[in-house]
Amino acid sequence: MLLRHTPEEVSERKALTINPAKTCQPIGAMYASLGVHGCLPHSHGSQGCCAYHRSTLTRHYKEPIPAGTSSFTEGASVFGGQANLLQAINNIFTVYNPEVVAVHTTCLSETIGDDLPQIKKKAEKEGKLPEGKYMISASTPSYAGSHVTGFASMVKSMAMMAEPTGKKNGKINVIPGWVEPADMEEIKRLTGLIGVKTILFPDTSGVLNGPLSGEYTMFPEGGTTMAELKSTGDSTGTLALGEWCSADAARELDSKHKVPCSVLDMPFGLAATDRFIDALRTLAGVTIPDEIAKERGQLVDMISDMHQYLYGKKVALVGDPDQLIAMTEFLVSLDMKPVHIVTGTPGKKFEKRIREITAEAGFEVNVKAKGDMFLLHQWIKNEPVDVLIGNSYCKYIARDEDVPYVRWGFPILDRQGHQYFPTVGYKGGLRLLEKILGVLLDRLDRDAPEEKFELVL
Ligand code: SF4
Repeated sequence: MLLRHTPEEVSERKALTINPAKTCQPIGAMYASLGVHGCLPHSHGSQGCCAYHRSTLTRHYKEPIPAGTSSFTEGASVFGGQANLLQAINNIFTVYNPEVVAVHTTCLSETIGDDLPQIKKKAEKEGKLPEGKYMISASTPSYAGSHVTGFASMVKSMAMMAEPTGKKNGKINVIPGWVEPADMEEIKRLTGLIGVKTILFPDTSGVLNGPLSGEYTMFPEGGTTMAELKSTGDSTGTLALGEWCSADAARELDSKHKVPCSVLDMPFGLAATDRFIDALRTLAGVTIPDEIAKERGQLVDMISDMHQYLYGKKVALVGDPDQLIAMTEFLVSLDMKPVHIVTGTPGKKFEKRIREITAEAGFEVNVKAKGDMFLLHQWIKNEPVDVLIGNSYCKYIARDEDVPYVRWGFPILDRQGHQYFPTVGYKGGLRLLEKILGVLLDRLDRDAPEEKFELVL
């Protein structure tokens, strides 16, 4: 009942966000940076910003997140943070010796107007950025965009590290977008089964889902290496998974180094995974391996076995655009009705795409980019749903409205498993379906009168 004051009546708001469906840009930049091997993310702003970015990622991934901060105080806030960053770069390479430092700005350093490429040049000139070490950077003012745009900006700066040699490397760049480490692992498993050699960037598998070894390693074994990032300019093509998270980086490689790109949806659910597998198969010039065909068949089997529990069920969704587009398509393919969809990330294209998907299925959808969870809650009050799917902040709405609820997306602060079990690909589709069916059937059991309380469903 924590949100009991949310009124049913929806009034238009232009300059007020209540319960945002997004978080700040640097968190996305920091997550992307952790997908580069030997990389130390660095937050160019105050200590408080950095503490927030790190703690949000730690709470989601249940792993310590190493990161530096320029530790702005009053002086840097007024005169700019160049001196702080130069000192930080010097300290970082002297004390921690990473391969690369990935610097993102914050609201404060952006407002002052700090120019990261210029500071990088100065650091090189003054010998603070050692020979053979790298600095990548992204502009991530959090009064615009969201964690998704911050992620995309840092991934684009990874693409800017490409150094083509003129000799093709026979590989395909795969840009997975903001998915879990387990999803990145799954994407690598699928590309391996099909026999496509890839450079996956960023790649947080082995970084944020590693085992407990008894020894702390600041730079775990996982992550895309700088050598791989340089080589992306020699690849034969790029598959970017998601328009919001990955397309800018892919287009950078296309326009600068003539590496042709295709932008696909993230491979959540049946149809989007079909398109991803088909693109890989075409690139490799092979037929689909039996193992993948079997996994697809298993997903189709579960859908047809359980269709009666899914048919016509109304869903409310909150999350990030790339994930929501694929999820909406998946739910529609299950004959479910995602009727309320909100993302905190701006982009009218998102609303258009969602309307296209739901229009084909013949139902009306409430959809909002740059929306918030307050609005989603109001929509649910006006048109109740059978399932709510989204991040941990949804638990308040789920409790208030007594709606079955599936945790999916970012951040998940109160459950485990998302780092280890993929939701991409056909196997991921099975997991998503199992989670959705789990809450629907639990509700069926809870509400069944005794004479209809069935052992077998
Ligand atoms: S001040 Fe800006 S960058 Fe810092 S935590 Fe807040 S929103 Fe993020």
